[in-house]
Amino acid sequence: MTEAPVALETDVAIVGAGPIGLFAVFELGMLKLRSVLIDALAEVGGQCTALYPEKPIYDIPAHPAIEAGALITQLEQQIEPFAAPRLLGRQVNGLSGARGDFTLTTDKGDTVRAKAVLVAAGAGAFGPNRPPLEGLAAFEASGAVQYYVRRREDFRGKRVVIAGGGDSAVDWALALKDIARVSVVHRRAKFRAAPESAARLDQAAAAGEVEMVIPYQLHGLVGTGGALQAVEVATLEGEVKSVPADVLLPFFGLSMDLGPIAAWGMDLALHHVTVDPATCETSIPGVFAVGDVASYPGKLKLILQGFSEAAMAAHAIFPIVHPDQALRFEYSTSKGVPAG
Ligand code: FAD
Repeated sequence: MTEAPVALETDVAIVGAGPIGLFAVFELGMLKLRSVLIDALAEVGGQCTALYPEKPIYDIPAHPAIEAGALITQLEQQIEPFAAPRLLGRQVNGLSGARGDFTLTTDKGDTVRAKAVLVAAGAGAFGPNRPPLEGLAAFEASGAVQYYVRRREDFRGKRVVIAGGGDSAVDWALALKDIARVSVVHRRAKFRAAPESAARLDQAAAAGEVEMVIPYQLHGLVGTGGALQAVEVATLEGEVKSVPADVLLPFFGLSMDLGPIAAWGMDLALHHVTVDPATCETSIPGVFAVGDVASYPGKLKLILQGFSEAAMAAHAIFPIVHPDQALRFEYSTSKGVPAG
């Protein structure tokens, strides 16, 4: 990770080093376009690294199952030949210039000059929806309240209260029940999770492997100095009870905030950047968007679709960087992987 402010010049500045930003380095590199990756997080991998590194993904072509963390490791290997510089822990704030000569600025004072910009900012500055509980910050700081499971093993032998009714709540209840004492707090009997998972949770509850605390919602945190002893829950009628706990995992979804990118003047649709589906170009000529952040009719927020968008955008960017050269379409099997 680079610490001091830097000034870089490249062909394409990629905003966001999630799976799609990483793969964009490859697609650009295959066309001999140089790129720089910039990400607000300290690590590459976006949602895969930050939210679910140990979860298997089942819909990456040719991988019947691959853990999200492993997918990122393999993407890093794939782009190694291109040696794209990475500016991590820096949020891109400003965009100035025009097609062929843009300058991006970061919150750490870096500047990146590029002929084209590729926005792969995913959910933007994503963060968890936090429960409005008194004293929450101290419990977050100690790790007694966490919003993501990075390592399942960290919860071995603990009393874990999981709150929420969606896929994350149900999946993690099922994943942790064999190594921890799991209680699930949900305000209604019906879960929004995939029906198969919800049915497995019902079975686990019937077998006494998981305690269901329904219909309750979070009410308070009991403990001192950041050490959690119990989670208070309440019914809509106001009946309060206490569930012993070492850790609370609230899974109330993610809040999306495009952050500074929203002010660049690109056409937006509900927190997403509208693009031409044939090229992934935004309404600002020379600025492209791929992956979760990009929106067009028929868009699926899937990694495989983002990979394809990265390839299309790279081809559309080529004439901006090399206006005097014709781009000949070639298979990777014919040309191999060019050195960066
Ligand atoms: P992201 O992964 O969101 O990465 C974007 C990056 O941009 C982030 O690192 C962020 O810090 C950075 N960024 C944003 N704004 C700025 C800025 N201004 N400056 C600098 N950096 C910035 N998809 C599948 O295809 N199959 C699955 O099975 C699957 N399972 C999932 C399970 C879970 C629990 C979750 C949460 C998602 C799942 N997804 C799955 C979705 C998948 O993770 C996303 O589609 C994918 O991560 C999108 O990649 P991305 O690179 O577009 O964005």
